[in-house]
Amino acid sequence: MAPNSGTPPLLIDPGLDVPEAGTVATGAPPDAVTTLRRSADAAGGARRLLARLRDVMAAGGTAQSRLDKIVMLIAAEMGADVCSCYVMRAGEVLELFATIGLNLDAVHKTRLRVGEGLVGDIAAHARPVALANAPSHPNFAYRPETGEDPFDSFMGVPILRGGRVRGVLAIQHIARRAYDEQDVETLETIAMVVAELVATGELVDNRELQVANDLVLLPSRLDGVSLNRGIAMAVAVLHRPQLTIRQMVADDPEMELGRLREAVDSMHSAIDRLLILSGESGGEHHEIIETYRMFATDRGWLSRIREAIRTGLTAEAAVQQVQNDNRARMASVTDSYIRERQLDLDDITNRLLQHLAGRQDKADGGTLPEEFVLVARNLGPAELLDYDRTRLRGLVLEEGAAYSHVAIVARALDIPVVGQCTGVLSRVDPLDFVIVDGDHGQVFVRPAEDITEAFLKSIEVGEERKREFAAARELESVTRDGVPVRLMLNAGLLIDLPHLHATGADGIGLYRTEIPFMVRHTYPDTAVQKETYAKVLDEAGDKPVTFRTLDVGGDKTLPYFPDLGEENPALGWRAIRIGLDRPAMLRKQLRALLWAAAGRDLRVMFPMVAEVSEFIRARRVLDLELRRLAQDGVAPPRDLKVGVMMEVPALLFQLDALLPNIDFMSVGSNDLLQYLFASDRGNPMLNNRYDLLSPAMLSVLRMLVRRCEAAGVQLSLCGEMASRPLDAMALLGCGFRTLSMSPGAFGEVKTMIRSVDVGVLQQFLDSLLGRPDRSLRLHLLAFARDHGVRL
Ligand code: PEP
Ligand code: MG
Repeated sequence: MAPNSGTPPLLIDPGLDVPEAGTVATGAPPDAVTTLRRSADAAGGARRLLARLRDVMAAGGTAQSRLDKIVMLIAAEMGADVCSCYVMRAGEVLELFATIGLNLDAVHKTRLRVGEGLVGDIAAHARPVALANAPSHPNFAYRPETGEDPFDSFMGVPILRGGRVRGVLAIQHIARRAYDEQDVETLETIAMVVAELVATGELVDNRELQVANDLVLLPSRLDGVSLNRGIAMAVAVLHRPQLTIRQMVADDPEMELGRLREAVDSMHSAIDRLLILSGESGGEHHEIIETYRMFATDRGWLSRIREAIRTGLTAEAAVQQVQNDNRARMASVTDSYIRERQLDLDDITNRLLQHLAGRQDKADGGTLPEEFVLVARNLGPAELLDYDRTRLRGLVLEEGAAYSHVAIVARALDIPVVGQCTGVLSRVDPLDFVIVDGDHGQVFVRPAEDITEAFLKSIEVGEERKREFAAARELESVTRDGVPVRLMLNAGLLIDLPHLHATGADGIGLYRTEIPFMVRHTYPDTAVQKETYAKVLDEAGDKPVTFRTLDVGGDKTLPYFPDLGEENPALGWRAIRIGLDRPAMLRKQLRALLWAAAGRDLRVMFPMVAEVSEFIRARRVLDLELRRLAQDGVAPPRDLKVGVMMEVPALLFQLDALLPNIDFMSVGSNDLLQYLFASDRGNPMLNNRYDLLSPAMLSVLRMLVRRCEAAGVQLSLCGEMASRPLDAMALLGCGFRTLSMSPGAFGEVKTMIRSVDVGVLQQFLDSLLGRPDRSLRLHLLAFARDHGVRL
């Protein structure tokens, strides 16, 4: 389908004059009395029509005959000379499936491409068009076989389902006639019923639909941003799937109004309960209630739903119709705040539909396909982990940023991820076959066979590369000029642990302890924590493990932790700040680590330290617990090393005081970049705005290498940049000799290491750092190419 942006929302040409191209005239809302009178008329008309439509459906007959009757009915009820139904076919073509008033020989012959003619324009922009003088409109496409010469006025609406255009329903009048918004709404209501009938096979013969589906639901390619490499092919599961509405038409509007009232009340109570449970009016719950209030108190929203019910729709269908209508109107809005409100409204609509269906549970209901690609607007890392990892093949997000924790968790799961895939939720239906190309940041929806085959070949090549990288496991991690580089694993889930041996890692450079906390529904007590940490140490054997204490806050929320609704969670109460303010929590975690380590080596690292004094206070808590060990009869660790994450720039200016107090430092480049450049790591708008390979970032890193070397402090880097071969090459150039990365990166990074002459690289990088460039990426890429570095 053609893009929706940049087009006027609704073309209504109310007068009899020739309209100018692109005339927009939804106009100011009519006064209240006129609106009431008109809506009462329209409601009556639409209700009659819907009732008769149901009779036609109940009467049976072939699909074509029913479709023919339906266009006849619409024409009769709306006093139109023509009513036609176009259905989407292969190649983004709209085929005339049924008509009354146009030449019948044109049925199944007349075809218009999406974007061609008025019908194509409606489909391209998913919006209604109403014109008094259609032939004079620049988009009018004359088809002699239809015999439409005598018809002056035209009104058409998209047949929408699941946010996609499935066809177009149009009426025409011989005489010039000014259509109004009520006319448009009536036709939209009918189109909604037609859409459901098309989709359920009630209206178009199922076999025809089958062929049509293969052809109609075109393969489409959506561009996004690669958040993790690799290719996945599977059917789609929508994180918040649309409920299927089975019954569109109702006999008793009063009963439907009652159902709506009950559902709204029950939704209201559920949201109140959420608020009470959260204990705070903050965070997501606060947003939900605010959004709910905004729409619930916006009389327009509920009253439009009620009005739609009065036209004869079921409560569900009415809610859906108002949503479709909103979406079509919002399609061309580019203002991000308003678009965000539309997403909120989608959320509320889905909630309301669930309450109408009497279901407030998770929509997948535990019936996940054997293999699936998850498609979501955005997800928290814990929400991702809610899905069965053994079946999850890939992830596609409408939003999502490279350093968001959901992307990090997805990398740990080693699944391809494409983020910022605008519009994917409206293009993909549940169980659509999709290909996630994480290498190029693209998603293919219902791909054609040749595309699928090409990807199958790519997967083969990828497997071959994986085998090559797996073979690299046995090779030493040493540069071409003989400098050894220690490669460590980033982990946080027990399923990560087998990677420790599969990758040949030298140890775990970052164990994110918060991840086991995030996947639980209650706070784990000391014994449970001890068990987890002991398992990690058992699995690691004699390889070192660096445990980072709880790093929650920001986008890492715990289900059982109060949501504070902070304005800037990334700058908020998180990580060691929570640990120091809630020392009991920190003590319990440190006790669990000490118990788990008993008699073995232990490395403990504190996250988000901004002041040396914070480190010292945290270290004191550790010492306190260390002293308690004897009372508990537990052996102390054989060797205890304590370090910090370098993430907050303030710490860069306290190195004189810090370095003598720590055993090691690990750079958290994800956070360091965000704080150095004041650039939210989770904000997709800022995704590539600042580069890790900027002179600023690389100068800081090189300085840290020098200072740590001089102080005899071990230094490593455990942010995502260590997982990318070119970035990792730059780190070697800065002097890093220990890198900690996600499991999927080992092969590539080791291959790069073995092909680089780090002496030459270091000199090259030194010569670059004073440049005014925003990024040195291209220079480093050129270096790699010129010096045969394998990236
Ligand atoms: C980092 O900030 O680079 C880091 C490794 O920590 P996290 O991504 O878990 O915040
Ligand atoms: Mg961090």
